[in-house]
Amino acid sequence: MRIVVVGAGVMGAWTALWLRRRGHDVILIDRHGPGNRLGSSGDESRITRSAHGPDRHYPVWQRRALTHWRALGRESNQELFVEAGVVWLANEAQTFEAESFDSLTALGIPAERWSRDDLARRAPVISPAGVPWALYEPEAGALMARRGVVATIEAFEGVGGEVITGRVLAPEGPEGAWPGGELGRVELEGGPTIEADAFVFAAGPWLPDLFPATIGGMIEPHRQDVMYFQAPPGDARYLADAMPAWIDFEGSFYGFPSFDGVSIKACPDWLGPVERCDESARECADATIDASREVLRRRLPGIADQAIVRTWTCFYEVTPDAHFVIDRHPALADVWIAGGGTGHAFKHGPVIGEYLAGLVTGDRAVIAELAPPDARFGIHARDARPSFRTSGRKPTNIAEG
Ligand SMILES: Cc1cc2nc3c(=O)[nH]c(=O)nc-3n(C[C@H](O)[C@H](O)[C@H](O)COP(=O)(O)OP(=O)(O)OC[C@H]3O[C@@H](n4cnc5c(N)ncnc54)[C@H](O)[C@@H]3O)c2cc1C
Repeated sequence: MRIVVVGAGVMGAWTALWLRRRGHDVILIDRHGPGNRLGSSGDESRITRSAHGPDRHYPVWQRRALTHWRALGRESNQELFVEAGVVWLANEAQTFEAESFDSLTALGIPAERWSRDDLARRAPVISPAGVPWALYEPEAGALMARRGVVATIEAFEGVGGEVITGRVLAPEGPEGAWPGGELGRVELEGGPTIEADAFVFAAGPWLPDLFPATIGGMIEPHRQDVMYFQAPPGDARYLADAMPAWIDFEGSFYGFPSFDGVSIKACPDWLGPVERCDESARECADATIDASREVLRRRLPGIADQAIVRTWTCFYEVTPDAHFVIDRHPALADVWIAGGGTGHAFKHGPVIGEYLAGLVTGDRAVIAELAPPDARFGIHARDARPSFRTSGRKPTNIAEG
């Protein structure tokens, strides 16, 4: 089969790699080039963790995906995963961590319950104030995100895949897809038309622009501001062998240890404003920095007032129920859509690609092995429900801005 994959972020890159490994003729197209920093996959790091509350599907995908990330790291001779561990700061008001602990234990995935004293001892730079207990995942940690995507694309090229930089024009207008039942070809802006047997659109937060009728109401691009603070000089407690990545559900906030001894990333998880990617100024708002310092004064006081080394913005591709979109286009039989990462898809990229490659080629064994137990990834109306990533809300005690 000849297959075009649009979008070389984590989903598109891994889909292209799996399809090419199966021997198909695959072209990977990205408007901003492979390994770009404008897509959601273009930042330094992403957390990989198994906890998903009571859900048992995502943890299994996450563990499988981690195996693929590790294998790619070995093949490319690069550190793509840092096993720093991930600690979840629990709170009395919600059950996410307790449900996660039960699920992970039942699935045989290592998980520890830390008392407040354990937290103070094992992660001394994190303030345990107001935290009744913590869930610790020792085999979780940080993926080196952009490096991982570049390694995936290089592996794809290494097995004969073709990469093109160019913008694919939208296959659909606000009224929907053109009639005909199949797409058959894509047109590049100012460039050639490329024919293929199947098309995978993994265009991240740009998907609503490409499929306004099908996806426009389903995926909302929320601008998220990312900050890197100066690491306290010479303080080894902030390094990845001494500090885990951390997630504060109540504070809707998370952070990483320092990987370079110079900068340390800490970011809000509360949803930023909805913006069209191509119209966004992509500037980190002063109000976000102020609100983040406020959270950090409570949680990671040692960096709360440090200088900001750099900022970055990208987009959460938010679906109402926080489940991804991995499905065939409802009117175009040769078109598949993958996206809706909702702030938790990076870690799953290798398995999203593996599953999608199975769907596109009709491989029943792969589909049977990887399909979720429900229709969670389908293109259909979805009910909004609280996210299982974090609360997604700005804490009420943080000033509006
Ligand atoms: C701040 C932030 C923190 C996050 N934290 C985590 C985390 O800790 N753990 C985790 O697992 N996930 C996390 N995520 C989510 C995860 O990073 C994303 O869901 C994932 O990277 C999305 O990958 P993608 O391939 O769908 O999209 P992208 O990486 O955005 O890739 C889409 C690509 O499509 C290209 N494209 C768009 N339109 C066209 C077109 N018309 N023609 C050609 N190419 C096109 C773009 O140039 C882009 O390269 C986070 C996301 C953000 C924004």
